[in-house]
Amino acid sequence: MGDWNRRTVLTGIGAGLASATVPAMAGAGAPKRKLGYAVVGLGSYATRQIMPQFKNCEHSRLVALVSGTPEKLERYGAEYGIPKTHRYSYADYDTIRNNPDIDVVYVVLPNSMHAEYSIRASQAGKHVMCEKPMATTAAEAEAMIAAARKANRKLMIGYRCHFEQHNLRAVELVKSGFVGRPTLITAEHGFYAPAGIWRLDKAMSGGGSLMDIGIYSLNAARYLAGEEPVELVATEWTDKSDPRFKNTEDRIDFQLKFPSGLIANCVSSYSSGHNAFRVTGTKGWVGMEPATSYEGHQMWTRADGKTEQVKLPAPRKNQFAAQLDHLPESVLTGIPLRASGEEGLRDMRLIEAIYRSARERRAVSLV
Ligand code: NDP
Repeated sequence: MGDWNRRTVLTGIGAGLASATVPAMAGAGAPKRKLGYAVVGLGSYATRQIMPQFKNCEHSRLVALVSGTPEKLERYGAEYGIPKTHRYSYADYDTIRNNPDIDVVYVVLPNSMHAEYSIRASQAGKHVMCEKPMATTAAEAEAMIAAARKANRKLMIGYRCHFEQHNLRAVELVKSGFVGRPTLITAEHGFYAPAGIWRLDKAMSGGGSLMDIGIYSLNAARYLAGEEPVELVATEWTDKSDPRFKNTEDRIDFQLKFPSGLIANCVSSYSSGHNAFRVTGTKGWVGMEPATSYEGHQMWTRADGKTEQVKLPAPRKNQFAAQLDHLPESVLTGIPLRASGEEGLRDMRLIEAIYRSARERRAVSLV
């Protein structure tokens, strides 16, 4: 790799660096006040990934809990010093409107509950962070956006990779021309889904692997491409004799075509492990594996006939803390939201088009 390329990979260049570090730098100008979060749904992701991260935040603090399980309210309330007055059941959820300590509601419930609990939070006058997938249909996502707009409150989707430094660097490398003209993206996401989880029940999940894990292939293809697809074609493969798949899909692969001629080949699977992407262009490529994991990202580049591993210094804030702080930063300073409701809606519309293409066995035009 030549010097220019090495500098580009390690440090970023010019305008590229500016946008690659937006989440980290935006915090610098925000007042030191911390906004209060209520976390709704004390399941695996909320308790293991999200709640432990408030201690790393500059603009966010955990002030309330909402759960259908009294023992969890007791346990996590004690662990995080949340007083009984700030612990809610789903039955008294709407009374959060009377609690001025709660600025933001973070919805970490099964997918089918995202729209209802986000809309009720907006109606209670709170800003909303909602987990991916934003909803189970594009119509629900539109209703969420409308509710937040009507309440004059913000709505953000938990796309943590938009705040992860390797992902941001990959985007910058593509933008800076490191790979030349991008021609092909491959994005693969999957894991073996064990029987009996709500993710395999369409009423709770809205769909199979695409809703849960394939959405990472879709969202990554879009942020790596830096443009929106104009056509897609999808193929589903589900073993209907596998008792896991009563009403959801296992494997659904899709190809996105972008206006520049760039193609993205995307994998979504509930039967095999994948977590990788690569952007190949006329001069080289940038790739990651794991690409969108909680930690341990690995990144490689190829240019001038040489493949090199890219090691980035530890970030000031990890992706979880940066995501949590971003919504308060946007509230406090007025900087535009990354991962807005509109961004979530784009994915929901594409997910519906992917299902339609697989069902009707034909390409779907998106323009
Ligand atoms: P879990 O099943 O571990 O937790 C969901 C929680 O929702 C439950 O523990 C329960 O909490 C509450 N809940 C309320 N009603 C129900 C119900 N009918 N069935 C099941 N749970 C119910 O799921 P995850 O934490 O893994 O996922 C939650 C959301 O977060 C999903 O939308 C998922 O897509 C997203 N997610 C995002 C990730 C990311 O990296 N951005 C990673 C993992 C998940 P309680 O007992 O407190 O009521």
